[in-house]
Amino acid sequence: MSIGFRTATTADPGLVRELADAVDTGALDPAAAARLIRADGTLLLHLLEAASLVRERRSGRTVTYSRKVFIPLTNLCRDQCAYCTFVRRPSDPLAHTMTPEEVLAVAEAGSAAGCKEALFSLGDKPELRYAVYRRWLAERGYARTIEYLRDMCALVLERTGLLPHANPGVMSEEDIALLRPVTASMGLMLESSSERLLERGGAHRGCPDKVPAVRLATLEAAGRLRVPFTTGILIGIGETPEERVDALYVIRTLQDRYGHIQEVIVQNFRRKPDIRMRDWPEPTLLEMLRTIAVARLILGTTTAVQAPPNLMPDGYEVYLLAGLDDWGGISPVTRDFINPERAWPHLREVKERTAQLGFQLRERLAVYPDYILRGDEFLDPAVLARVRVLVDPGGLVPPEKELW
Ligand code: SF4
Repeated sequence: MSIGFRTATTADPGLVRELADAVDTGALDPAAAARLIRADGTLLLHLLEAASLVRERRSGRTVTYSRKVFIPLTNLCRDQCAYCTFVRRPSDPLAHTMTPEEVLAVAEAGSAAGCKEALFSLGDKPELRYAVYRRWLAERGYARTIEYLRDMCALVLERTGLLPHANPGVMSEEDIALLRPVTASMGLMLESSSERLLERGGAHRGCPDKVPAVRLATLEAAGRLRVPFTTGILIGIGETPEERVDALYVIRTLQDRYGHIQEVIVQNFRRKPDIRMRDWPEPTLLEMLRTIAVARLILGTTTAVQAPPNLMPDGYEVYLLAGLDDWGGISPVTRDFINPERAWPHLREVKERTAQLGFQLRERLAVYPDYILRGDEFLDPAVLARVRVLVDPGGLVPPEKELW
């Protein structure tokens, strides 16, 4: 491919050549990535242009989102991340585990509002920490949260047709196999590949489920079981820019091995008054642009790159100039329980701000078109049958069926 920035530039010519090669080959040299993650000035402009060219090859001018309803099954968790505002202890009046009736009521409200995805988000294995929660599960015939989650996914799928996306934390291969017949996709943020964050004073101190190797084992197991999978990095929690790059290469390696990573989220840390990291600096818009662009170049055309618009309300649309091609799940009916102070923008607003930069917003399902088009290789046949009636031949929701 011939690109303009091969010539006349004030930026480091070696790095500009690496960018041109990345556009041509769909793979970025790691040493170049470690320098590009700090790009400024003309080099930053070249980085954004290169990332945009790769995105263009993957998804043209189409940017996607999923119309979802958020089901926070339990806000108990055995971990204690320093940035988490979702988690509660059982003694907290706001601690809550949803009953099947509550799950169904939220899913039905979502279905009535045109949602197609039920995002189950919950704390990681709280039964290993809290006896009172173990009793709650036992009274309903369950020993483990994952078993309860499986039944709630089945309930929602059966009764509403919403496609469950399960996000229950670290899972074994058996756990993933249990959920696969009742979900369209699953997810686990890698967050970071840095062990340092587990040390005293680190964001992941006291979090056995945030050991990078443990999370990678889940991502690998999902690959072996052919599950369309969502992962990503959380930036600004104490990792260095180089560690962000390292985490992205780890994800790319898994994607090359299994081909199951359907999307990679670049999520920015936001301060909240009730967290241990309440005085921590937040990543800037420029840091997000650099990280999204480097993510796009490392991942090439193999996966969607997503960032949440509600975590950067002033200016999120410029992510589109850095290679982003998905806005993630947006809910018309439930708030963001992970970042409750950050309301989701209205879908019409996202559509307009996307169009201002020359892109067309399209609705996708909880599973991306590439995986739908591969039939039952990546989806349980019963789930695939439900998926197929919702999409056009390209694997997206037909525009005439989208609600604005
Ligand atoms: S971020 Fe997730 S794993 Fe960490 S404490 Fe909150 S719910 Fe638990």
